[in-house]
Amino acid sequence: MTTIEIARPDEKPLHDILRGLVSKQQYDLWFSSIEVLAARPDGVQLAVANPFIRDWLSTYYAEVLRAAVRACVGTDAPLELTLSPQAEADLPALESAPAAVAPDPAPGNRAFFATHSDVMLNDKYTFENFVVGPSNSLAHAAARAVGDAPSDSYNPLFLHGRVGMGKTHLLQAICHQALRSRRPRNILYLSSETFVNQFIAAIEKGDVDRFRYKYRSVDILLVDDIHLLAHKDRTQDEFFHTFNSLYNSGRQIVLSSDSPPQAIPALTQRLISRFKWGLEAELEPPGYETRLAILRRKARDRGVEVPEEVLRLLGEQVDTNIRELEGAITKVIGYAQLIHRPIDLDLAHQALGMQPGGSLRPVTGVDRVIAVVCNHFGVRSGDLQGRRRTQSIALPRQAAMYLARQLTSMSLEEIGGCFGGRDHSTVLYAVDKIRSRMEASRPFSLLMADLETRAQH
Ligand code: ADP
Ligand code: MG
Repeated sequence: MTTIEIARPDEKPLHDILRGLVSKQQYDLWFSSIEVLAARPDGVQLAVANPFIRDWLSTYYAEVLRAAVRACVGTDAPLELTLSPQAEADLPALESAPAAVAPDPAPGNRAFFATHSDVMLNDKYTFENFVVGPSNSLAHAAARAVGDAPSDSYNPLFLHGRVGMGKTHLLQAICHQALRSRRPRNILYLSSETFVNQFIAAIEKGDVDRFRYKYRSVDILLVDDIHLLAHKDRTQDEFFHTFNSLYNSGRQIVLSSDSPPQAIPALTQRLISRFKWGLEAELEPPGYETRLAILRRKARDRGVEVPEEVLRLLGEQVDTNIRELEGAITKVIGYAQLIHRPIDLDLAHQALGMQPGGSLRPVTGVDRVIAVVCNHFGVRSGDLQGRRRTQSIALPRQAAMYLARQLTSMSLEEIGGCFGGRDHSTVLYAVDKIRSRMEASRPFSLLMADLETRAQH
């Protein structure tokens, strides 16, 4: 057998072999940071960029690493996996990250966040509360790596997936993680709508320089729902410059979108190519096992025992998205508490408005509602889910909220969350508005009935 010496610090042979053993995504995510610290017959020492990657590799990829090293050195040399000197230096900040209850290690992080970001973080959107399965493990792992070691991992990190798949949850989990770190960091979390609005306001005030300046001090920029930049040419130009200046100075960028970069309508080529520079990870609809795991977790979080057969029923029936899955279990638990009955299959059927005895009305997903409404009114889903208030969008959006209320098991808050983060009173208002319009106009009421039927097929 030929023996390939692993030359230090040139790791090329090892990396070439690794690339051949795993997929590109796996390689980019887990293996690309590997350095060879020492390569002797009595042992090979590899280093990686952060503790999370180290633990993940040793748990899931030990065999792959051993095979690659064997191919390189020609023997089964003992393998040691450590942290790179740089990661070691950062360790106190990373590994001793205290729990949320401990005194704030870097109060400045929170102050900056609170002043500049446009959301209040949801306390529940943490990595600990995120159920991992095959449909989301890559996105989760990449987000964790970025939360642990921004700028050292994947830049930009581009998460995409349909509505209700956990994109916002992961973006906020990165924020929580980075806020807890002892490292002073300026974290900015924005919806792309806010970026657009602030930019337009800056142009109107002739204040574009100040607008740009704000971004210079940001260490981690997270922009949720970047697909809302579709068709907005000037803002795309501006975002391009913001992206470049942050990227070039080594700052972390994290983006979420309802589709991969190339599928965002009318996104300029130069942004598409930049969004692809780092790691792209899709959040896919969860399979049955993951749905069950999520349901178990949500029941446990609410401190309620839900019989396995009920969890299975929900897991089978609600296969559209995780927001609706949460809505379904909340509904069942809430209903049981309301009528003071233990949770069983019958009660679950009633709570979800399903026909008893197993022949179940298919549960309509909010995606389906959005598709039907967009198709009829000729609007884009990004508009329905955005914050614009123009009349041409207001009616379709209200109709969609009304249909979501009729057809899905989602709560008012959840529906509001799907339509640009609106609160429950806005959804109630929309439902009322559509009802009174239906009462006043027969053609309109026929139209709504028709949309309702279409959304169910
Ligand atoms: P998106 O931004 O992709 O539309 P969200 O992040 O708002 O979706 O997720 C919808 C809901 O589902 C949230 O309440 C979120 O906490 C929950 N959720 C999504 N994925 C998971 C998961 N893997 N584990 C637990 N909860 C999840
Ligand atoms: Mg979201």
